[in-house]
Amino acid sequence: MPTCRTCYGEYQKKQSSCPRCESDVDVWKTAELSLPEYILYTIIGLGPSLVMALIIWRAASLQPNSLHHFIAGLLAVGLPILAFFSIFGQRHKIRELTWAQQVYKPRFRLHPALIGILALLATIVLWLVSYVLFKVWGDPKVIKYYHKLIFALVYSLGHLCFTASATLLVLQRYLKTLDESVPPPLFVNTDRMVQVAVKTAFKILGTNVKSEGLQDLRADQKVTRRLEVMQTSRRDDDGGVRISVREYRGTRLEGDDFFGHPQWIENTWIIEADRWARIQSLKPSEVKYSQ
Ligand SMILES: [Zn+2]
Repeated sequence: MPTCRTCYGEYQKKQSSCPRCESDVDVWKTAELSLPEYILYTIIGLGPSLVMALIIWRAASLQPNSLHHFIAGLLAVGLPILAFFSIFGQRHKIRELTWAQQVYKPRFRLHPALIGILALLATIVLWLVSYVLFKVWGDPKVIKYYHKLIFALVYSLGHLCFTASATLLVLQRYLKTLDESVPPPLFVNTDRMVQVAVKTAFKILGTNVKSEGLQDLRADQKVTRRLEVMQTSRRDDDGGVRISVREYRGTRLEGDDFFGHPQWIENTWIIEADRWARIQSLKPSEVKYSQ
């Protein structure tokens, strides 16, 4: 079953809106990266690795028995590929964290653009160090094997930082475009979060209730219900919500006629939900009876 990217609820493939949060799920099908875009971003992210792979392949063909080229190649190509796929694979998590920082105060904070710029500066420093090492150790008469490995490690880290920087900066642009066409995560909108949490809470209780308006109590009905959200408060550390809901429940005793007065029960519930409106606890706090 596909998962809604707005609330992490499940929906059927044929549905165009999420049954849980009612957001448009079709919009994600066109907003996600197309294959040409994905290939373009991959080339940008892995550019330095591809260039280095060609250089090392050429150097290795000149000195076929040197293990150094194999290790250097593995580091220079493998590390950036790992960085690219790790960052790109987490693009939705990075988007959520960016939104979360605008809504509450998550324990883990991340500024992708700032990290991208710092990684770019680290790239320049590491490539300058590589150049200095090349000048100092470049003489084949004095260079030792471990010098070669240190040199390979430094320029490989330079490629790693460059790939991380390019990926993060391009990702920022992609996420900005994405946010223009898809709904924000559920936790951004407290009202919607509360609606989803209340609906979910009363499903747990096995009660189908309408959250607005008092239903007419007809003679053929034994029970009617109304819900009223009394108070909501967001938690600053994890974006969750605490909701106080009053449930009015009218019951009609067997044998009462249409004009008979039902007995009303006021039941206050305290709902604790996480930032995706998933119920963490549901407790009654107060029960009142009235005629
Ligand atoms: Zn949803």
